[in-house]
Order: sequence, then structure tokens, then C-alpha cells
Amino acid sequence: MSAVSDAIATARHVHDAAAADLEPILGDIARWVAHESPSGATAELDLLAGELAQTLTGYGLVTELVPSPVGLHVHGVLEGSGRARVALLCHHDTVFPLGTVAGRPLRRDGDRLLGPGTADMKGGIAVAAHAARLLAGGDRPFARLELVSVPDEEVRSEPIATQARLAGFDAVLCMECGRPGGAVVAARKGGRWLDVVARGRSAHAGSEPEHGRNAVLALARELPRIAALDRAREGLTLHVTRMHGGDVLNSVPGEARATIDMRGWHEADLDWAEAQLLRCDQHRGIAFTAGEGRLVTPPLERTPAVAALAVQAAAIGAALGSPVPETSTGGVSDGCWTAGAGLPTLDGIGPVGALDHSPDEYIEIASLAARCGLIAGLVAAIDGGILQSAEG
Ligand SMILES: [Zn+2]
Repeated sequence: MSAVSDAIATARHVHDAAAADLEPILGDIARWVAHESPSGATAELDLLAGELAQTLTGYGLVTELVPSPVGLHVHGVLEGSGRARVALLCHHDTVFPLGTVAGRPLRRDGDRLLGPGTADMKGGIAVAAHAARLLAGGDRPFARLELVSVPDEEVRSEPIATQARLAGFDAVLCMECGRPGGAVVAARKGGRWLDVVARGRSAHAGSEPEHGRNAVLALARELPRIAALDRAREGLTLHVTRMHGGDVLNSVPGEARATIDMRGWHEADLDWAEAQLLRCDQHRGIAFTAGEGRLVTPPLERTPAVAALAVQAAAIGAALGSPVPETSTGGVSDGCWTAGAGLPTLDGIGPVGALDHSPDEYIEIASLAARCGLIAGLVAAIDGGILQSAEG
């Protein structure tokens, strides 16, 4: 059989096994939703990490709880007979404060499962865990399959603490929810948040204003130029989101700063825009610099390897009778960090759902088995060499 038909056979096998008995998947989601885990609640997060590790051990994975200042990271590993190394990337923190579940417990409404964290992303952990469980019982078409669940996705603005463990992996499948209609996410914008600082000289506004160099006025003259970078390249957005200048009512202000929010599909566009920020006119006695505390999230770029993953996902979806188109989004996820580290990353692999971070968050029960099959098929296809041909 060709690599593609192997992958589809694996996808079908895992899909059919998951569909034949959804109860273990639904049961895990119910337990994990009931176990609240807001970002920052380290005790609850660590308890849930322990529970996840125990469950994964029961499914045949070799698990490890890796400590970090923000809590335990779950790593569950299967070794197989193939050559690919693939990570299934999850997070077990949610945006909902403790006590939310008491007022809004998990409930089923037709084909929808609603409750805090169902889509973002306890349902995603469940499909990854059960895809791994069902792959463990077959001929294991991979060298290493590693399920990772981190405790801080919703609040972190730096790489995943245990990301170095994934160095050299062939691909990462990120379990944020699939989009209504089944789409996976093949591109995410990167973001940068940084300050532009103008420094002049403060002076008494009444007695000797001639000694002052007004930083507020100088920065105010530059901001229209900076704001005009918005949409200067396709998909690039740039907005001035904060401005502060001057401290007292009777001084020429010696310092002013503005915060810029920029987002784009490509690192090169963000580099370009950032370089433009400080191309200021001459303002006598004023110096412009970048402020400290610059925050960056890299884009998940739709590279040839990511495109190959998306094409394969569509083929598997067609074979399973659950269409898997692809889409893109301006929002960031942990998939941005693995993509930024050079690992081909396809996101939106979790169950189909929507309305994350809202009281109406849901997943579609009918998508659970399909996503287990999709994960298994993608792993087998990566093992079959689809990424090598994308690069070749
Ligand atoms: Zn998420």
C-alpha cells in the first residue's frame, strides 16, 4: 500500500474503534471538566496533571510529570515501529475561575457538549489521549508519539517550558478545537507588543520653558506615521493602543511612550514593521528608542510542510466522511511557539467546537471519533513521509 492509503486505513481503524464506544472519551471529558483548572491555580492544575498522567498510563503511555514554576507539564510517550516523531500538543489550564462549574456544569444539548473548557481544551486532550490509546493497540506507525499538556497556555507569552524536549520532532498537532464545519487551522498571525519611547528634557513650563524639549509633542507628531503602517503589507495590522506622557501639570514633559500592537502572517512582515517604528523625523533634542518589556508571539506560518499536513488532513476527512477544510486566524495559541521553533505545526485538530472563553463554549460530540481518526491518520501519513516530499 502507498503511504497515503496506509494513513487512511489507520485513520479508519481508529475512527471506527472510537465511534464504536464513545463512552471512555465522554467519561474523560466529564471528569476533566469537573476538575477545574484555571491558569495560575497551581494546586488544582497539578492535581489535574496527575490525573491526566494516570489516565495516560492506563492507556499504555509512559508518562512523566515535569515540574516548572507554573506547574507540572504532562508528557506521555508511546514508542513505535516507524520513524516519525510527532507531538500532540495540549493545555490543561482554562480561563474560567474556580466555582464556574458549580453554576454551569457539563451538559449535553443534542449533539453538543457544553461546559467550561470543553473546547478549550479538555475535549482536545481527550481526543489526543484516545487516539494514542487506539494507536497503542495497533502496529504503531511512528517512532515516538508524545502527548504534551501544559498548565499555562492561556497566560504565557514565552515559549513552552518543556519545548526543548520536542527538538527535532517531525511535526506537532495542536489540539485547539476544530472550527465549525470541521476546519483545521493552518495559519495563525504572530503578534508583537512594544513601546516607542521619546526622551527630551523636562523644564518648568512657566519660568524656563526654553530649556525643555517636549517629548509628548514629538511622539504625537510621529504616531500618525506609525499608525499608517497598518495594512501596509497583506494581513499586517498595527495599532497604537496606549500612550502616556508627562507627569506634572506645570512642566514641559521630558518623556512620552506609546504602545504598539502589531500582528501579521509572516515574521518578515513583523520585522519590517518593527524596523519602521523608529524611523522618526528629526525633533530637536528628542531621542526615540524602543522600550523595555517587548512581548512577542511568533506566527504559525503556512509553510510547505504545514500545507502538506493540511492537504493530508483534508484527504483523511474526505475518507472518513467528515470534511476537514483549512482556515487561518488572527488569534495565537501554543502552536505558534512550536511553529516559531521551526516545527511544522497544524492546529485546530481538537473536536469541532466554538465560543471558547464564553459561557456558551461547546464541542460537537459527532466530531470526537472523527478527530481521533484524523490524528491517527496524520501521524501515519507523517510516518509515511509526506513532509519529506513537501520539502523536496
Ligand atoms: Zn486553548
